Amino acid sequence: MNSLSTIDQLVEALRCLPGVGPKTAQRMVMHLLERDRDGARNLAANLNSAMEKIRHCQKCRNFTEHDVCHICTSTTRDVSTLCIVENPGDVIAIEQTGHYQGRYFVLMGTLSPIDGIGPKEIGMDELMARCNEEVEEVILALSSSVEGEATSHYISELVKLKNIRVSRIAQGIPLGSELEYVDGGTLTHALNGRKII
Ligand code: ZN
Repeated sequence: MNSLSTIDQLVEALRCLPGVGPKTAQRMVMHLLERDRDGARNLAANLNSAMEKIRHCQKCRNFTEHDVCHICTSTTRDVSTLCIVENPGDVIAIEQTGHYQGRYFVLMGTLSPIDGIGPKEIGMDELMARCNEEVEEVILALSSSVEGEATSHYISELVKLKNIRVSRIAQGIPLGSELEYVDGGTLTHALNGRKII
């Protein structure tokens, strides 16, 4: 039996959020109990609903409520360009620039053998299957961290074997920074200035 009180359990549960330590979690719980019980119920309902409904797109691995996401099913997007990113947040950042019309593939991470993340975990089988479609250019838009660089290199070697053009977004993205935190102007510049590798 769990010996923690209901309050303690809730404090513990909130600590799954990034950047939330015990003090912050406790403050959140007190706030919700004292001042915003409706907000808390709404939060719980939305969390439940999102966890039930949201899954990965079968084609690009981005988050979606459907088998295939709206970007992959869109008939107005350029099917010949495939932009590879690390996380769903990167897709949102690039979409917000409004300057990219191709499609995406989301790795959901980078290669990291020490953490047990290999080619299978970043969806290389799905990516290679995707490259058999009408793709003419693959744009690598991964972070410039050590893992991002290694992953870019790995993917570019495999994609080139399929005679597909491979490019990388231009420098200007700060070293090791995550794409989703880069401002739109810099991101647009980096996409437009991409280099064939
Ligand atoms: Zn998709």
